[in-house]
Amino acid sequence: IKGQYGKYFAAYDDKLRDELLRQQAIIDEMETALKEEQFLIYLQPKYRIRDDKLAGAEALVRWNHPKWGFQSPAEFIPLFEKNGFITKLDQFVWDKTCSYLREWEEKGYPPLPASVNVSRADIYNADIADILMNTVEKYGLPPSRLHLEITESAYTENPGQIIETVSHLRNLGFIIEMDDFGSGYSSLNMLNQMPIDILKLDMKFIQSETVKPANQGVLRFIMELARWMHLSVVAEGVETREQLDRLLETGCDYVQGYYFARPMPERDFEKLIREQQSD
Ligand code: C2E
Ligand code: CA
Ligand code: CA
Ligand code: CA
Repeated sequence: IKGQYGKYFAAYDDKLRDELLRQQAIIDEMETALKEEQFLIYLQPKYRIRDDKLAGAEALVRWNHPKWGFQSPAEFIPLFEKNGFITKLDQFVWDKTCSYLREWEEKGYPPLPASVNVSRADIYNADIADILMNTVEKYGLPPSRLHLEITESAYTENPGQIIETVSHLRNLGFIIEMDDFGSGYSSLNMLNQMPIDILKLDMKFIQSETVKPANQGVLRFIMELARWMHLSVVAEGVETREQLDRLLETGCDYVQGYYFARPMPERDFEKLIREQQSD
């Protein structure tokens, strides 16, 4: 092909090739990164709205590569979900997070829970319950100190199997949070059968630029539904005072977002715990 088309495809090919090279580089580096502790755990505080109390943290993985610097999880997590490496990485995150909980306990801080992300790939791992139980037991923690965030879309892929596995985890005592709730997959009808304790609202509910009255109505409806089902609700992605005010009106239980704090290293999170104690 000559002319415009040829040029267009050449540019397209270049972009595609760069993208594939970049993905391959990430895959080539991942095992070393895990061994050399380039993966770091950042903690983002969750607050209880009722009394402004620190109520826990979400553990979010960071990759600080010696040459590339900090890499976005939004890029490498989907890749690791495809090639299966996420299972290993998540186990590292769970272990590290439990080690923090243990450290705080030994320092006599009030027992906070921590939430970890559980990838859909992890749920298909037949050993997941054993692995999670071994991890909490290793650090002498009750399973209820670990909240498992499982994205809503995972439930709809293979509802039968997911519900069975997650019910088992919940019966063992882990607290189950449905992440990205309302992102468009779960039907209200199915929600009823899902083994969950906490709804974690998708950010889009509070981040929609123009706050329409109808939107506020949807929020109210979700809170009402949650109360009726005995679930608590976490809103994430809270960036402004206005967003917080809207949540206050609807009776949301917990908040997380840049308005309060960004994800931070454990050292800084520990400072928050100490400040809270002296309040
Ligand atoms: P997620 O689980 O929905 O996590 C929330 C994301 O929103 C995090 O992005 C967090 O840093 C960001 N965030 C927090 N507050 C605000 C805010 O006020 N405004 C905005 N715009 N964003 C906020 P992050 O850390 O880049 O993670 C992206 C996604 O990568 C996560 O979405 C999660 O799906 C995945 N992920 C991160 N860490 C892990 C992990 O250890 N394991 C697994 N399986 N997935 C992870
Ligand atoms: Ca999450
Ligand atoms: Ca989320
Ligand atoms: Ca510490």
